[in-house]
Amino acid sequence: MNTLTQIIDGKLISLQIQDEIFLQVEELKKNNKKIPHLAAILVGSDGASETYVAAKVRACERVGFNSTLIRLPELVSEQELLKKIKDLNTDSDVDGYIVQLPLPKHINEYKILEAISPQKDVDGFHPQNVGRMALNLPTYLPATPFGIIQLLERYKIDTIGKHCVVIGRSHIVGSPMSILMARNTAFGNCTVSLCHSRTVNLKEFTLNADILIVALGIPEFITADMVKDGVVIIDVGITRIISGKTKSGFKLVGDVNYDEVAPKASFITPVPGGVGPMTIASLLINTLKASRGDVYQQLD
Ligand code: NAD
Repeated sequence: MNTLTQIIDGKLISLQIQDEIFLQVEELKKNNKKIPHLAAILVGSDGASETYVAAKVRACERVGFNSTLIRLPELVSEQELLKKIKDLNTDSDVDGYIVQLPLPKHINEYKILEAISPQKDVDGFHPQNVGRMALNLPTYLPATPFGIIQLLERYKIDTIGKHCVVIGRSHIVGSPMSILMARNTAFGNCTVSLCHSRTVNLKEFTLNADILIVALGIPEFITADMVKDGVVIIDVGITRIISGKTKSGFKLVGDVNYDEVAPKASFITPVPGGVGPMTIASLLINTLKASRGDVYQQLD
């Protein structure tokens, strides 16, 4: 490893943010103010979704938030789910809530996301909040891109005028990430290239990246010959692969070949322990904002 390479410790930053939120909740309690309350709807019993939701509920407990987990059966109708959403929209005790994705095939995901009150949309997926993000208005930023911005901020990584290449254009990571990096903000102001599966000559882009944000879901896709010296690497990918070397029999791998690429990088996020833990920290920040009513008051 190049001694000049800085490893971005997302686990540490996430815990720091959670400690900061804990102190703010203690302050609320001392002043007899309302405790932030996050609800989560989980449809069905998909293993990965169960794990993610459980982690979110545990994080709420750790910082002192109230949390409610609403479990609905795999075969719940779209109508019933919409009714639940309507109830949460009008429940004054719930400040924000999420609907864990993906949803079963018979439910229209966009219809569900649009039904969530934008004021309570702490995942930042409602079209109104996506629009506000694009216009640089106060909003709830989607958790993973928001987590990445916080890592750039806490590590004081200079982004202004840099060429940022984002690989992947999903609605939850790549696409919002490209918008955030281009905005006229302290940790934006990049010239952004958004690459995807139809990009021709991807390597030409990656070799010219000052900041490379990779979110495509192909393990160790980015190799040393694809990046320049001094690049900042943000690896969003998480793939579970079989491994004979771990007790569990599997390990998590990113989209970047870490061992090869790290020596060339100025900063790099490891997998696990980089971007992943920040997603939860972002959700907690958004919930705190929702309980304060900050986001929408700023415009009203
Ligand atoms: P997705 O699967 O929805 O989309 C993948 C994107 O990669 C697509 O836009 C596609 O155009 C692009 N792509 C595919 N093959 C490509 C190629 N050969 N060259 C260039 N682009 C290509 O992606 P997603 O939901 O954003 O997830 C991406 C990865 O990030 C996954 O590994 C996922 O598990 C992980 N993820 C991690 C977090 C976290 O908290 N760390 C959060 C969300 C997703």
